[in-house]
Amino acid sequence: MIYDTIIIGAGPAGLTAAIYLKRANKSVLVLEKETFGGQITHSPKVENYPGFLSMSGVEFADKLVEQAMVQGADIDMDEAKGIVKDGDIFTVKGDRADYQARSVILATGSKHRTLGLEGEEKFTGEGISYCAVCDGAFYKDMDIAVIGGGNSALQEAILLSKTSKSVTVIQNLPFLTGESKLIEQIEATDNIKVILSSVVAKILGTDKFEGITIKNEETGAESDLSFDGIFVAIGQKPENESFSDAVKLDERGYITADEGCIPDGYEGIFVAGDCRSKSVRQIATAISDGAAASVAVCKYLG
Ligand SMILES: Cc1cc2nc3c(=O)[nH]c(=O)nc-3n(C[C@H](O)[C@H](O)[C@H](O)COP(=O)(O)OP(=O)(O)OC[C@H]3O[C@@H](n4cnc5c(N)ncnc54)[C@H](O)[C@@H]3O)c2cc1C
Repeated sequence: MIYDTIIIGAGPAGLTAAIYLKRANKSVLVLEKETFGGQITHSPKVENYPGFLSMSGVEFADKLVEQAMVQGADIDMDEAKGIVKDGDIFTVKGDRADYQARSVILATGSKHRTLGLEGEEKFTGEGISYCAVCDGAFYKDMDIAVIGGGNSALQEAILLSKTSKSVTVIQNLPFLTGESKLIEQIEATDNIKVILSSVVAKILGTDKFEGITIKNEETGAESDLSFDGIFVAIGQKPENESFSDAVKLDERGYITADEGCIPDGYEGIFVAGDCRSKSVRQIATAISDGAAASVAVCKYLG
């Protein structure tokens, strides 16, 4: 079968595109390699998605998947490994099979880099976060740390300092690597403290997150620090490498596209959600991309 559209990635962006396309009477296949619903399934509590006071990420993801299925989208578990175009037809090369369509939406998302420490997964959403915009409000008037010293980490620290009691920035290098304007702002903020040349060596707590052990990279000395929560801001990685032959990636691996989610210079390939170059990576922006990409696909298919 040749689908109207194959969507790679069943996160909020991909599933929204599927819902919109099915409602426009297009045949749609969504391919997902890991978890139907995408990365939001890792969040125990979402409180910033308009229209819902509070819900778990899994609850939200389940509803999205159900809605896409009720609309009639085919959703399959397979990893897309590449895209080949022949005339007007795209072949998406999967792990289990090859799939064909007249258009493709890349909605592969991105992954936060993790510390890779014991306890990290267990306390994710319960003391360990990767997103100040998502979870900052849960740490109002509390003592927290931001791990990292680049632009994202410093922006997160400044944002969190407005609601949290204290913010400790912990950076592995002997200097902060963010822009000088951000560094000046960090230095001028009373409730932000910076610890340099230190890495997180251990996550503390058995049933409840209690803090971290940091290790000084120069002296090797270790110290235990109590925090109500930590925000890990050591980078994100988009999942676009497999498609670098089909579409141009920027220096960080993201795909640049216009407001309509159309990458410049490509016919029939669209991009939506966290995998595209953008300033805010949230459910709301992923969903907005899914809607925009589906409208662009409909225009393209005619
Ligand atoms: C712990 C956590 C808490 C968060 N909390 C919030 C919050 O409270 N509020 C908020 O707005 N946002 C939150 N976010 C961010 C939000 O989850 C993302 O912005 C959103 O999920 C992005 O949607 P997406 O569809 O673009 O990508 P994703 O959700 O990342 O989905 C992409 C999907 O594509 C799949 N995929 C990738 N490559 C392939 C391939 N080659 N073949 C097949 N499938 C592939 C992936 O497995 C994934 O399921 C949180 C994120 C995390 C990790």
